[in-house]
Amino acid sequence: MTETLPVPLTGGCQCGAVRYGVTVVPEDVHLCHCRMCQKQVGGPFAVIAPVDRAGFTVTRGTIAWFQSSALARRGFCRDCGTPLIFEYPASTHIGVMAGTFDEPDRVPPVIQYGNEGRVAWYAHIAALPGLEATYEDDPNAMLPRISASNRQHPDHDTDHWVPGGWTAER
Ligand SMILES: [Zn+2]
Ligand SMILES: [Zn+2]
Repeated sequence: MTETLPVPLTGGCQCGAVRYGVTVVPEDVHLCHCRMCQKQVGGPFAVIAPVDRAGFTVTRGTIAWFQSSALARRGFCRDCGTPLIFEYPASTHIGVMAGTFDEPDRVPPVIQYGNEGRVAWYAHIAALPGLEATYEDDPNAMLPRISASNRQHPDHDTDHWVPGGWTAER
């Protein structure tokens, strides 16, 4: 299934200080429910896209690292805190956090790991009621104010970000 995924893929952190490109097809894209992944991403599970190191390039900035065990480390943006990477440095592959791709739809997971840590309410997530869109119900006009002041990097590579902030055009 993953063999049909188109490459290259691009992505980065929320603030745009770190950007990366992937020129190989991710393999064994997976959910990981383990307790360490829960903590790293601040959510019920991580979605990790392993890619061959030869096809992974940091195109802007520098990844910061937390050595989470003697064998593994976790990469993030030092400026905005976005979790970016899980890796075993000795491995041929590096695990990219799927939500940081510019188009996460292009990296669907195929298996789940770490199921001993899976939250009890995981099975009910898809059945939860929900609004069609963020702030669909918006009596205080939050969404236009958020949109007008949004500092999140756009979902594509750009030359308009410089260390310390944005230039006028973005
Ligand atoms: Zn950042
Ligand atoms: Zn994990």
